[in-house]
Amino acid sequence: MVRSLTQWTKTLSFPTRLSPNNKSAKEVSPTVTPSLSNNSLTASTVNNNKENNNTMNNNNNCSSMTEINQIYSDFESEKTIMSSVVYCIHHKEGCKWSDELRKLKGHLNTCKHDTLPCTSNCGAQIPKVLMEDHLLYTCPQRRTRCEFCSKEFTGHTLEDHVGNCGYEPLYCENKCGVKIQKRHLSQHKNSDCSKRLLPCRYCSKEFVADTLAIHHVKCPRVPINCPNRCDVNFLSRENLESHLKEECTISGCFFKEAGCRFKGSKYVLDKHLEENCQQHLQLICDVVNKQQNQITSLKSSISRLSLNYSGTLIWKISDFSSKIAEAKTKEGMELVSPPFYTSQYGYKLQASLFPYGNGTGEKTHISVYIKILPGEYDALLRWPFAHSVSFTLFDQTTCPDQACNIIESFIPDPTWKNFQRPSREPDSLGFGFPKFVSHEMLKKRYFMREDVMFIRVKVDPSKIVAV
Ligand SMILES: [Zn+2]
Ligand SMILES: [Zn+2]
Ligand SMILES: [Zn+2]
Ligand SMILES: [Zn+2]
Ligand SMILES: [Zn+2]
Ligand SMILES: [Zn+2]
Ligand SMILES: [Zn+2]
Repeated sequence: MVRSLTQWTKTLSFPTRLSPNNKSAKEVSPTVTPSLSNNSLTASTVNNNKENNNTMNNNNNCSSMTEINQIYSDFESEKTIMSSVVYCIHHKEGCKWSDELRKLKGHLNTCKHDTLPCTSNCGAQIPKVLMEDHLLYTCPQRRTRCEFCSKEFTGHTLEDHVGNCGYEPLYCENKCGVKIQKRHLSQHKNSDCSKRLLPCRYCSKEFVADTLAIHHVKCPRVPINCPNRCDVNFLSRENLESHLKEECTISGCFFKEAGCRFKGSKYVLDKHLEENCQQHLQLICDVVNKQQNQITSLKSSISRLSLNYSGTLIWKISDFSSKIAEAKTKEGMELVSPPFYTSQYGYKLQASLFPYGNGTGEKTHISVYIKILPGEYDALLRWPFAHSVSFTLFDQTTCPDQACNIIESFIPDPTWKNFQRPSREPDSLGFGFPKFVSHEMLKKRYFMREDVMFIRVKVDPSKIVAV
Protein backbone atom coordinates (compact mmCIF):
# COMPACT_ATOMS: atom_id res chain seq x y z
CA MET A 1 0.00 0.00 0.00
CA VAL A 2 1.43 3.31 -0.98
CA ARG A 3 0.66 6.14 1.28
CA SER A 4 1.18 9.72 0.50
CA LEU A 5 3.78 10.96 2.89
CA THR A 6 3.51 14.60 2.07
CA GLN A 7 0.97 15.03 4.81
CA TRP A 8 3.34 13.46 7.39
CA THR A 9 5.28 15.56 9.75
CA LYS A 10 8.94 15.08 10.41
CA THR A 11 8.46 13.06 13.53
CA LEU A 12 5.85 10.50 14.30
CA SER A 13 4.70 8.98 17.45
CA PHE A 14 2.58 5.89 17.79
CA PRO A 15 1.74 3.24 20.26
CA THR A 16 4.05 0.29 20.68
CA ARG A 17 1.28 -2.19 21.09
CA LEU A 18 -1.75 -2.03 18.86
CA SER A 19 -4.05 -4.20 20.78
CA PRO A 20 -7.68 -3.66 19.82
CA ASN A 21 -8.61 -4.50 23.39
CA ASN A 22 -6.37 -1.86 24.85
CA LYS A 23 -7.55 1.50 23.72
CA SER A 24 -5.55 3.33 26.34
CA ALA A 25 -2.34 1.74 25.31
CA LYS A 26 0.79 3.55 26.18
CA GLU A 27 2.72 5.22 23.49
CA VAL A 28 6.15 4.67 22.17
CA SER A 29 8.21 7.32 20.63
CA PRO A 30 9.97 6.22 17.55
CA THR A 31 10.97 9.31 15.78
CA VAL A 32 10.69 8.81 12.13
CA THR A 33 11.69 11.04 9.37
CA PRO A 34 9.79 9.54 6.55
CA SER A 35 10.80 9.88 3.04
CA LEU A 36 9.22 8.56 -0.05
CA SER A 37 10.53 5.44 -1.43
CA ASN A 38 8.74 3.82 -4.26
CA ASN A 39 5.85 2.10 -2.59
CA SER A 40 7.20 1.93 0.94
CA LEU A 41 8.01 4.08 3.87
CA THR A 42 11.64 4.61 4.74
CA ALA A 43 12.40 5.21 8.38
CA SER A 44 15.68 6.95 8.28
CA THR A 45 16.16 7.16 12.01
CA VAL A 46 14.41 5.38 14.76
CA ASN A 47 15.12 5.87 18.39
CA ASN A 48 13.73 2.83 19.90
CA ASN A 49 13.33 3.35 23.59
CA LYS A 50 11.87 0.20 25.07
CA GLU A 51 12.15 1.02 28.72
CA ASN A 52 10.70 4.45 28.61
CA ASN A 53 7.62 4.27 26.52
CA ASN A 54 6.28 7.53 27.79
CA THR A 55 9.38 9.51 27.14
CA MET A 56 9.13 11.48 24.01
CA ASN A 57 12.02 11.83 21.66
CA ASN A 58 14.01 15.02 22.00
CA ASN A 59 13.00 15.96 18.52
CA ASN A 60 9.41 15.90 19.52
CA ASN A 61 7.67 18.90 20.90
CA CYS A 62 4.23 19.34 22.29
CA SER A 63 2.78 21.00 19.33
CA SER A 64 3.89 18.42 16.81
CA MET A 65 2.71 15.67 19.12
CA THR A 66 -0.65 17.25 19.23
CA GLU A 67 -0.73 17.41 15.50
CA ILE A 68 0.11 13.82 15.15
CA ASN A 69 -2.41 12.82 17.70
CA GLN A 70 -4.89 14.73 15.80
CA ILE A 71 -3.96 13.29 12.52
CA TYR A 72 -3.74 9.66 13.78
CA SER A 73 -6.18 9.69 16.51
CA ASP A 74 -7.84 6.54 15.58
CA PHE A 75 -6.52 3.10 15.90
CA GLU A 76 -7.33 2.23 12.36
CA SER A 77 -4.90 4.79 11.19
CA GLU A 78 -2.23 3.57 13.52
CA LYS A 79 -2.77 0.10 12.38
CA THR A 80 -2.46 1.17 8.86
CA ILE A 81 0.75 3.01 9.59
CA MET A 82 2.22 0.02 11.40
CA SER A 83 1.47 -2.10 8.41
CA SER A 84 3.41 0.16 6.16
CA VAL A 85 6.37 -1.49 4.56
CA VAL A 86 9.61 0.20 5.49
CA TYR A 87 13.35 -0.34 5.09
CA CYS A 88 15.63 -0.90 8.02
CA ILE A 89 16.89 2.35 9.42
CA HIS A 90 20.35 1.09 8.47
CA HIS A 91 19.30 0.72 4.84
CA LYS A 92 21.83 3.24 3.72
CA GLU A 93 24.58 1.40 5.51
CA GLY A 94 23.70 -1.71 3.56
CA CYS A 95 20.94 -3.50 5.48
CA LYS A 96 18.62 -5.09 2.99
CA TRP A 97 15.83 -5.70 5.48
CA SER A 98 12.41 -4.44 4.52
CA ASP A 99 9.10 -5.33 6.12
CA GLU A 100 6.13 -3.87 7.95
CA LEU A 101 6.92 -1.04 10.28
CA ARG A 102 5.70 -3.00 13.26
CA LYS A 103 8.44 -5.55 12.74
CA LEU A 104 11.18 -2.99 12.58
CA LYS A 105 11.82 -3.06 16.26
CA GLY A 106 12.24 -6.78 16.25
CA HIS A 107 14.59 -6.60 13.34
CA LEU A 108 16.75 -4.03 15.05
CA ASN A 109 17.45 -6.61 17.78
CA THR A 110 19.34 -8.63 15.24
CA CYS A 111 20.33 -6.16 12.60
CA LYS A 112 24.03 -6.32 12.32
CA HIS A 113 24.15 -2.67 11.38
CA ASP A 114 22.49 -1.69 14.61
CA THR A 115 25.68 -2.26 16.61
CA LEU A 116 27.94 -0.55 19.10
CA PRO A 117 31.65 -1.01 19.56
CA CYS A 118 32.38 -3.41 22.42
CA THR A 119 32.56 -1.49 25.64
CA SER A 120 35.58 -3.53 26.69
CA ASN A 121 37.32 -2.25 23.60
CA CYS A 122 37.94 -5.56 22.02
CA GLY A 123 37.21 -3.80 18.72
CA ALA A 124 34.17 -5.87 17.84
CA GLN A 125 30.91 -4.27 16.75
CA ILE A 126 28.22 -5.92 18.79
CA PRO A 127 24.48 -5.69 18.30
CA LYS A 128 23.34 -3.74 21.26
CA VAL A 129 21.07 -6.46 22.49
CA LEU A 130 23.92 -8.95 22.56
CA MET A 131 26.37 -6.66 24.29
CA GLU A 132 25.73 -8.10 27.73
CA ASP A 133 26.24 -11.68 26.53
CA HIS A 134 29.26 -10.60 24.58
CA LEU A 135 30.90 -9.00 27.56
CA LEU A 136 30.21 -12.05 29.68
CA TYR A 137 30.92 -14.88 27.35
CA THR A 138 32.50 -13.99 24.06
CA CYS A 139 34.47 -10.80 24.37
CA PRO A 140 38.16 -11.57 24.00
CA GLN A 141 38.84 -8.90 26.58
CA ARG A 142 36.62 -10.35 29.28
CA ARG A 143 38.29 -11.66 32.44
CA THR A 144 37.50 -15.27 33.20
CA ARG A 145 38.87 -18.38 34.93
CA CYS A 146 39.54 -21.83 33.53
CA GLU A 147 37.03 -24.09 35.20
CA PHE A 148 39.64 -26.84 35.56
CA CYS A 149 42.86 -25.19 36.61
CA SER A 150 41.26 -22.00 37.96
CA LYS A 151 43.87 -19.81 36.34
CA GLU A 152 42.66 -16.42 35.18
CA PHE A 153 42.48 -15.63 31.48
CA THR A 154 41.12 -13.05 29.14
CA GLY A 155 38.49 -14.35 26.84
CA HIS A 156 41.03 -14.30 24.08
CA THR A 157 43.72 -16.32 25.84
CA LEU A 158 41.14 -18.69 27.26
CA GLU A 159 40.28 -19.81 23.76
CA ASP A 160 43.84 -20.94 23.27
CA HIS A 161 43.84 -22.56 26.70
CA VAL A 162 40.66 -24.52 26.24
CA GLY A 163 41.57 -27.99 25.02
CA ASN A 164 45.08 -27.60 26.35
CA CYS A 165 44.39 -27.34 30.05
CA GLY A 166 46.32 -30.10 31.82
CA TYR A 167 43.76 -30.22 34.62
CA GLU A 168 40.82 -30.99 32.42
CA PRO A 169 39.53 -34.45 33.32
CA LEU A 170 39.23 -36.66 30.27
CA TYR A 171 38.12 -40.21 29.77
CA CYS A 172 40.97 -42.54 28.82
CA GLU A 173 40.81 -43.18 25.09
CA ASN A 174 41.37 -46.89 25.67
CA LYS A 175 37.88 -47.06 27.19
CA CYS A 176 39.17 -48.43 30.46
CA GLY A 177 36.58 -46.26 32.21
CA VAL A 178 39.11 -44.09 33.99
CA LYS A 179 38.63 -40.31 33.94
CA ILE A 180 41.87 -38.56 34.61
CA GLN A 181 43.40 -35.10 34.32
CA LYS A 182 44.86 -34.55 30.90
CA ARG A 183 48.36 -33.98 32.28
CA HIS A 184 48.37 -37.51 33.76
CA LEU A 185 46.74 -39.17 30.80
CA SER A 186 49.83 -40.19 28.92
CA GLN A 187 51.42 -41.76 31.97
CA HIS A 188 48.17 -43.58 32.67
CA LYS A 189 48.03 -44.93 29.14
CA ASN A 190 51.63 -46.03 29.26
CA SER A 191 51.82 -47.65 32.62
CA ASP A 192 48.52 -47.91 34.46
CA CYS A 193 45.73 -48.32 31.96
CA SER A 194 44.14 -51.73 32.23
CA LYS A 195 43.36 -51.60 28.53
CA ARG A 196 46.83 -50.69 27.31
CA LEU A 197 48.55 -53.15 25.05
CA LEU A 198 51.43 -55.07 26.54
CA PRO A 199 53.63 -57.66 24.89
CA CYS A 200 53.71 -61.10 26.50
CA ARG A 201 57.26 -61.40 27.76
CA TYR A 202 57.41 -65.01 26.60
CA CYS A 203 55.80 -65.06 23.16
CA SER A 204 55.99 -61.28 22.43
CA LYS A 205 52.43 -61.12 21.15
CA GLU A 206 50.49 -58.09 22.34
CA PHE A 207 47.61 -58.36 24.78
CA VAL A 208 45.33 -55.95 26.61
CA ALA A 209 46.97 -55.57 30.02
CA ASP A 210 44.13 -57.02 32.05
CA THR A 211 44.02 -60.19 29.94
CA LEU A 212 47.74 -60.86 30.10
CA ALA A 213 47.52 -62.98 33.25
CA ILE A 214 44.90 -65.19 31.59
CA HIS A 215 47.14 -65.48 28.56
CA HIS A 216 50.09 -66.54 30.67
CA VAL A 217 48.09 -69.50 31.90
CA LYS A 218 47.98 -70.82 28.36
CA CYS A 219 50.89 -69.13 26.61
CA PRO A 220 52.78 -71.90 24.81
CA ARG A 221 56.12 -70.20 25.44
CA VAL A 222 55.85 -69.95 29.19
CA PRO A 223 58.72 -71.86 30.81
CA ILE A 224 57.62 -74.71 33.04
CA ASN A 225 59.27 -77.39 35.12
CA CYS A 226 59.35 -80.92 33.89
CA PRO A 227 56.86 -82.84 36.03
CA ASN A 228 59.51 -85.55 36.35
CA ARG A 229 61.99 -83.00 37.62
CA CYS A 230 64.62 -84.12 35.17
CA ASP A 231 67.70 -82.05 34.40
CA VAL A 232 66.27 -80.29 31.36
CA ASN A 233 67.53 -76.69 31.21
CA PHE A 234 64.62 -74.96 29.63
CA LEU A 235 61.23 -76.35 28.87
CA SER A 236 58.35 -74.37 27.43
CA ARG A 237 54.76 -75.46 27.75
CA GLU A 238 54.51 -76.20 24.04
CA ASN A 239 57.51 -78.54 24.23
CA LEU A 240 56.45 -80.48 27.28
CA GLU A 241 54.70 -83.25 25.44
CA SER A 242 57.57 -84.01 23.10
CA HIS A 243 60.04 -83.66 25.96
CA LEU A 244 58.22 -86.26 28.00
CA LYS A 245 58.04 -88.53 24.99
CA GLU A 246 61.53 -88.12 23.62
CA GLU A 247 63.96 -86.54 26.04
CA CYS A 248 62.92 -86.83 29.62
CA THR A 249 65.13 -89.35 31.34
CA ILE A 250 62.99 -91.34 33.68
CA SER A 251 64.34 -94.55 34.95
CA GLY A 252 63.14 -97.18 37.31
CA CYS A 253 64.69 -97.74 40.71
CA PHE A 254 67.85 -99.86 40.74
CA PHE A 255 65.92 -102.27 42.93
CA LYS A 256 63.23 -102.67 40.32
CA GLU A 257 64.06 -106.36 39.97
CA ALA A 258 63.67 -106.76 43.68
CA GLY A 259 60.16 -105.34 43.48
CA CYS A 260 60.55 -101.55 43.95
CA ARG A 261 58.14 -99.86 41.61
CA PHE A 262 59.53 -96.36 41.94
CA LYS A 263 60.19 -94.48 38.69
CA GLY A 264 61.63 -91.02 38.24
CA SER A 265 64.20 -88.75 36.75
CA LYS A 266 67.80 -88.91 37.89
CA TYR A 267 67.32 -86.25 40.51
CA VAL A 268 64.35 -87.83 42.18
CA LEU A 269 65.81 -91.27 41.88
CA ASP A 270 68.94 -90.33 43.79
CA LYS A 271 66.78 -88.99 46.55
CA HIS A 272 64.65 -92.09 46.54
CA LEU A 273 67.68 -94.37 46.86
CA GLU A 274 68.99 -92.33 49.73
CA GLU A 275 65.74 -92.42 51.64
CA ASN A 276 64.78 -96.05 51.09
CA CYS A 277 67.84 -98.11 52.09
CA GLN A 278 65.91 -100.08 54.67
CA GLN A 279 63.06 -100.89 52.32
CA HIS A 280 65.42 -101.87 49.54
CA LEU A 281 67.36 -104.15 51.89
CA GLN A 282 64.13 -105.80 52.89
CA LEU A 283 63.24 -106.32 49.24
CA ILE A 284 66.61 -107.93 48.61
CA CYS A 285 66.18 -110.25 51.60
CA ASP A 286 62.82 -111.30 50.26
CA VAL A 287 64.40 -112.01 46.90
CA VAL A 288 67.18 -114.07 48.49
CA ASN A 289 64.66 -116.14 50.41
CA LYS A 290 62.57 -116.63 47.34
CA GLN A 291 65.59 -117.65 45.32
CA GLN A 292 66.71 -120.05 48.03
CA ASN A 293 63.37 -121.77 47.80
CA GLN A 294 63.65 -121.83 44.04
CA ILE A 295 67.12 -123.36 44.25
CA THR A 296 65.89 -126.05 46.60
CA SER A 297 62.98 -126.81 44.37
CA LEU A 298 65.20 -126.85 41.29
CA LYS A 299 67.63 -129.16 43.02
CA SER A 300 64.92 -131.61 43.86
CA SER A 301 63.58 -131.35 40.30
CA ILE A 302 67.00 -132.07 38.89
CA SER A 303 67.63 -134.94 41.24
CA ARG A 304 64.22 -136.33 40.40
CA LEU A 305 65.02 -136.06 36.70
CA SER A 306 68.36 -137.77 37.17
CA LEU A 307 66.93 -140.43 39.42
CA ASN A 308 67.62 -143.95 38.59
CA TYR A 309 64.55 -146.22 38.61
CA SER A 310 66.29 -149.32 37.34
CA GLY A 311 67.02 -150.98 40.66
CA THR A 312 70.71 -151.02 39.76
CA LEU A 313 73.19 -148.33 40.69
CA ILE A 314 76.67 -148.08 39.20
CA TRP A 315 78.46 -145.87 41.65
CA LYS A 316 81.60 -144.19 40.36
CA ILE A 317 83.93 -143.03 43.12
CA SER A 318 86.74 -140.75 41.88
CA ASP A 319 89.90 -139.51 43.63
CA PHE A 320 89.69 -142.46 45.95
CA SER A 321 93.22 -142.16 47.36
CA SER A 322 92.57 -138.61 48.57
CA LYS A 323 89.26 -139.76 50.05
CA ILE A 324 90.91 -142.55 51.95
CA ALA A 325 93.57 -140.14 53.17
CA GLU A 326 90.85 -137.78 54.36
CA ALA A 327 88.98 -140.61 56.04
CA LYS A 328 92.07 -141.55 57.96
CA THR A 329 92.00 -138.22 59.71
CA LYS A 330 88.21 -137.83 59.87
CA GLU A 331 86.58 -140.44 61.97
CA GLY A 332 83.47 -142.05 60.51
CA MET A 333 83.81 -140.32 57.12
CA GLU A 334 81.16 -141.77 54.91
CA LEU A 335 80.56 -141.34 51.17
CA VAL A 336 76.97 -141.60 50.01
CA SER A 337 75.75 -142.55 46.55
CA PRO A 338 73.02 -140.75 44.64
CA PRO A 339 69.62 -142.13 45.72
CA PHE A 340 67.98 -144.61 43.35
CA TYR A 341 64.68 -146.44 43.10
CA THR A 342 64.17 -150.12 42.86
CA SER A 343 61.58 -149.45 40.12
CA GLN A 344 59.58 -146.46 38.90
CA TYR A 345 57.23 -146.63 41.88
CA GLY A 346 59.46 -148.70 44.12
CA TYR A 347 61.65 -148.29 47.18
CA LYS A 348 64.11 -145.41 47.42
CA LEU A 349 67.60 -146.55 48.35
CA GLN A 350 71.04 -145.11 48.88
CA ALA A 351 74.41 -146.80 49.18
CA SER A 352 77.11 -145.60 51.52
CA LEU A 353 80.82 -146.35 51.70
CA PHE A 354 83.37 -145.85 54.45
CA PRO A 355 86.77 -145.58 52.69
CA TYR A 356 88.69 -146.22 55.90
CA GLY A 357 86.30 -148.84 57.13
CA ASN A 358 83.55 -148.98 59.71
CA GLY A 359 82.88 -151.31 62.61
CA THR A 360 84.83 -154.54 62.20
CA GLY A 361 86.38 -153.31 58.96
CA GLU A 362 87.70 -150.08 60.45
CA LYS A 363 91.19 -149.12 59.21
CA THR A 364 91.56 -152.31 57.13
CA HIS A 365 88.63 -152.49 54.78
CA ILE A 366 86.23 -150.42 52.87
CA SER A 367 82.72 -150.92 54.29
CA VAL A 368 79.57 -150.71 52.15
CA TYR A 369 75.95 -150.40 53.29
CA ILE A 370 72.53 -149.89 51.83
CA LYS A 371 70.01 -147.50 53.41
CA ILE A 372 66.30 -147.18 52.78
CA LEU A 373 65.33 -143.56 52.30
CA PRO A 374 61.80 -142.18 52.64
CA GLY A 375 60.39 -142.51 49.08
CA GLU A 376 57.46 -141.06 47.17
CA TYR A 377 55.50 -144.29 47.04
CA ASP A 378 56.29 -145.81 50.44
CA ALA A 379 52.59 -145.77 51.32
CA LEU A 380 51.81 -148.18 48.49
CA LEU A 381 54.73 -150.57 49.07
CA ARG A 382 54.97 -153.72 51.12
CA TRP A 383 56.94 -153.50 54.36
CA PRO A 384 59.44 -154.54 55.57
CA PHE A 385 61.67 -154.22 52.53
CA ALA A 386 62.54 -157.69 51.33
CA HIS A 387 64.48 -157.42 48.02
CA SER A 388 67.87 -159.08 47.86
CA VAL A 389 70.78 -156.63 47.58
CA SER A 390 74.17 -157.27 46.05
CA PHE A 391 77.35 -155.14 46.00
CA THR A 392 79.90 -155.65 43.20
CA LEU A 393 83.34 -154.08 43.02
CA PHE A 394 84.35 -154.12 39.37
CA ASP A 395 87.71 -155.30 38.16
CA GLN A 396 88.46 -152.72 35.50
CA THR A 397 90.66 -154.95 33.44
CA THR A 398 90.91 -154.28 29.72
CA CYS A 399 89.82 -157.84 29.10
CA PRO A 400 86.29 -158.13 30.46
CA ASP A 401 86.40 -161.88 30.05
CA GLN A 402 89.18 -162.12 32.57
CA ALA A 403 87.60 -159.71 35.00
CA CYS A 404 87.43 -160.86 38.56
CA ASN A 405 84.77 -158.81 40.30
CA ILE A 406 84.12 -158.98 44.01
CA ILE A 407 80.44 -159.60 44.85
CA GLU A 408 78.65 -159.65 48.19
CA SER A 409 74.88 -159.95 48.61
CA PHE A 410 72.23 -160.47 51.28
CA ILE A 411 68.57 -161.04 51.70
CA PRO A 412 67.09 -158.66 54.27
CA ASP A 413 66.04 -160.05 57.61
CA PRO A 414 62.41 -158.95 58.06
CA THR A 415 62.89 -158.57 61.79
CA TRP A 416 65.52 -155.95 61.29
CA LYS A 417 64.42 -152.42 62.06
CA ASN A 418 66.43 -151.12 59.11
CA PHE A 419 64.00 -152.68 56.68
CA GLN A 420 60.81 -151.20 58.12
CA ARG A 421 59.17 -148.30 56.42
CA PRO A 422 61.51 -145.33 57.08
CA SER A 423 60.31 -142.20 58.78
CA ARG A 424 60.52 -138.81 57.12
CA GLU A 425 63.73 -138.14 58.97
CA PRO A 426 66.67 -139.66 57.10
CA ASP A 427 67.83 -142.85 58.86
CA SER A 428 71.54 -143.17 59.43
CA LEU A 429 71.24 -146.83 59.89
CA GLY A 430 72.12 -149.08 56.95
CA PHE A 431 72.72 -152.74 56.31
CA GLY A 432 75.75 -154.17 54.53
CA PHE A 433 79.30 -155.33 54.75
CA PRO A 434 81.83 -153.74 57.12
CA LYS A 435 84.57 -155.82 55.62
CA PHE A 436 83.53 -155.55 51.98
CA VAL A 437 87.04 -155.37 50.46
CA SER A 438 90.34 -155.00 52.31
CA HIS A 439 92.61 -152.12 51.51
CA GLU A 440 95.21 -154.68 50.50
CA MET A 441 92.87 -156.23 47.99
CA LEU A 442 92.04 -152.86 46.54
CA LYS A 443 95.58 -152.47 45.41
CA LYS A 444 95.37 -155.68 43.42
CA ARG A 445 94.22 -156.25 39.88
CA TYR A 446 92.36 -153.26 38.43
CA PHE A 447 89.85 -152.53 41.20
CA MET A 448 91.28 -149.05 41.14
CA ARG A 449 92.18 -147.44 37.89
CA GLU A 450 93.23 -143.85 37.60
CA ASP A 451 92.15 -143.53 41.22
CA VAL A 452 88.58 -144.41 40.29
CA MET A 453 86.50 -147.35 41.54
CA PHE A 454 83.09 -148.57 40.37
CA ILE A 455 80.69 -150.30 42.73
CA ARG A 456 77.44 -151.73 41.50
CA VAL A 457 74.50 -151.97 43.91
CA LYS A 458 71.80 -154.23 42.55
CA VAL A 459 68.40 -154.84 44.06
CA ASP A 460 66.61 -157.93 42.87
CA PRO A 461 62.84 -158.08 43.47
CA SER A 462 62.63 -161.64 42.20
CA LYS A 463 64.12 -162.77 45.44
CA ILE A 464 61.36 -161.25 47.59
CA VAL A 465 60.97 -163.06 50.80
CA ALA A 466 57.31 -163.31 51.78
CA VAL A 467 56.52 -161.86 55.15
ZN1 LIG B 1 18.85 -3.55 9.56
ZN1 LIG C 1 34.37 -7.17 23.40
ZN1 LIG D 1 42.89 -24.71 32.75
ZN1 LIG E 1 42.93 -46.32 30.50
ZN1 LIG F 1 52.65 -65.46 25.48
ZN1 LIG G 1 61.83 -84.31 31.97
ZN1 LIG H 1 63.42 -98.17 44.96
